[in-house]
Amino acid sequence: MLDEQCIFCKIIRGEMPSKKVYEDEHTFAFHDINPIAPVHVLVIPKKHIPNVLAVEPEDERYITAIHRAIKKVVETTGIAEDGFRVITNTNRHGQQTVFHLHYHVIGGRQLTWTM
Ligand code: 5GP
Ligand code: ZN
Repeated sequence: MLDEQCIFCKIIRGEMPSKKVYEDEHTFAFHDINPIAPVHVLVIPKKHIPNVLAVEPEDERYITAIHRAIKKVVETTGIAEDGFRVITNTNRHGQQTVFHLHYHVIGGRQLTWTM
């Protein structure tokens, strides 16, 4: 389920410190170490799934749980009403750097649509 070398699996196992925002049976959410906005939280499944391309039908419960977790995270951090953005970078053009599926939850300031 988890990968020996993966840094996000190490965070899930508690072998690497993180600032936890939310956790449940299927997900873990923590503050990004290099935030691009006042609120920048990463929501990850407690299974080593490399990215959205690697999601299998049996992973459905993780994907559903991630959406529930995102709601908890934005309520906890107080950005639900003003709004926020959810981003999943994938492979080279998406500039994915960590190959454990993660959803960036970004808010706390006005965002613009520039890539
Ligand atoms: P990606 O570039 O793959 O979409 O996103 C990886 C994210 O993970 C980056 O925003 C980066 O700042 C964050 N990150 C990388 N290593 C760590 C870490 O050890 N702890 C935390 N909290 N965030 C990390
Ligand atoms: Zn992993």
